[in-house]
Amino acid sequence: MSVQGTAAAPALLWAPAAWVGGRWQAGVLLRAGADGLWAEVRAGVAAPPGAEVLPGPVLPSLVNAHSHAFQRAFVGLAERRDSAHDDFWSWRDRMYGVALRITPAQLRALAAQLYAELLDGGYTQVCEFHYLQHAPDGSRYADPAAMLQALADAAAEVGIGLTLLPVLYERAGFTQPALRDDQRRFATSADEVLALQRAAAGMGALVTAGVAVHSLRAARPASIVALAERSSGPLHVHVAEQTAEVDDCLAATGCRPIDWLARHAPLDARWQLVHATHSVPGEIAAVARAGAGVVLCPGTEANLGDGLADLPGWLAAGVPLSVGSDSQVLRAWPEELRWLEYGQRLALRQRNVAADPGHEPATAARLFERVRAGGAAAAGLPRWGLEPGARADLLLLDASCPGLAGLPASHLLDGLVFAAAARPFARVLVAGRWRWPDDAAVAARAGRAAAVMHQLWAQ
Ligand code: ZN
Repeated sequence: MSVQGTAAAPALLWAPAAWVGGRWQAGVLLRAGADGLWAEVRAGVAAPPGAEVLPGPVLPSLVNAHSHAFQRAFVGLAERRDSAHDDFWSWRDRMYGVALRITPAQLRALAAQLYAELLDGGYTQVCEFHYLQHAPDGSRYADPAAMLQALADAAAEVGIGLTLLPVLYERAGFTQPALRDDQRRFATSADEVLALQRAAAGMGALVTAGVAVHSLRAARPASIVALAERSSGPLHVHVAEQTAEVDDCLAATGCRPIDWLARHAPLDARWQLVHATHSVPGEIAAVARAGAGVVLCPGTEANLGDGLADLPGWLAAGVPLSVGSDSQVLRAWPEELRWLEYGQRLALRQRNVAADPGHEPATAARLFERVRAGGAAAAGLPRWGLEPGARADLLLLDASCPGLAGLPASHLLDGLVFAAAARPFARVLVAGRWRWPDDAAVAARAGRAAAVMHQLWAQ
């Protein structure tokens, strides 16, 4: 399936089964209001006259809580080892090569392709952790928000919700006062981030805006605290992705990165800790007390050799969790949830690590529900899912597709995450509108993105 084009949905839908209140329920009526939010969600009812009867079960879509759209230009091009040593830092140097070349028009074309792929993969909201602000020589564009605008235009073209997070980026490392030359497009002060957030907030009906701190190594402590105090909305930060970052933070501050945030940020429910790969139990407890969320990016963390987050620890502590496509090597949430669980199985030599036998024995169901609930705060939205007041988004499952056919409703999520193709979604609804397949638009968009890839890689 490809999701392109739009059509007004009927005001009234009825599904034989839907994921409501954290479980499958039968006979669910869904009524979208003119404002694009769910006005009514009611389970255990027969299809009323006038309702469109959906041909399969429906799920809430998920928030993609961490994306760098420009890194779509790099997918599939970094899977060769050219020297004796290859890790996150050598990958980053190569990624910077793309970051230094891409223009707003090229970003728009690649982001449109990416966002269509994300809709296809079951996401209807994407959080852009956006640090690529300035012209290739580091000078400001005439419109300082030109690169943000390119992302907003791409999201509007395909009809996906967007949370724009302009990033504070000031220095190359804990002990380096300035940026490297190849980081010149990223340079921002707290004042600039706040101005970019104001510009982003007006970029569309499906656009929300927060802010981000690139990482503790890339921003000065006083700037981080000032940005937190002076901004509103979600506040994302890359943290503890690399053991080298943990070591550098300990050497510079005496604290591990998550511990530093808990002591100095101060953390609260606005904060979204991206990766949080390398933690100790005291840090998990501090994040849980603060109410902050954690954004896991299992596909990218595997691709970059980052390490494994303490998933059992984060789950047990009740910390809000979400997932992100980050470097875009995966662009469908069922694959992210599969890798989230499989990493733990491989490391711990156990099965069904994310399940909770006392409360939710189904691994995929527990992961899905935690990630559904955690996405709202990450995106800066008050509600998310099939409930009144949440945006009227849903995924219509193709329950006849390989991997799902014949499964009882109680096991559909397990089949979706562990047995099916990555994109078994027949249709996607965003803000009360169906996103319909349109082969001509799909081909045109893919052609524009491919042309940009040729331009970027021919140089
Ligand atoms: Zn990232």
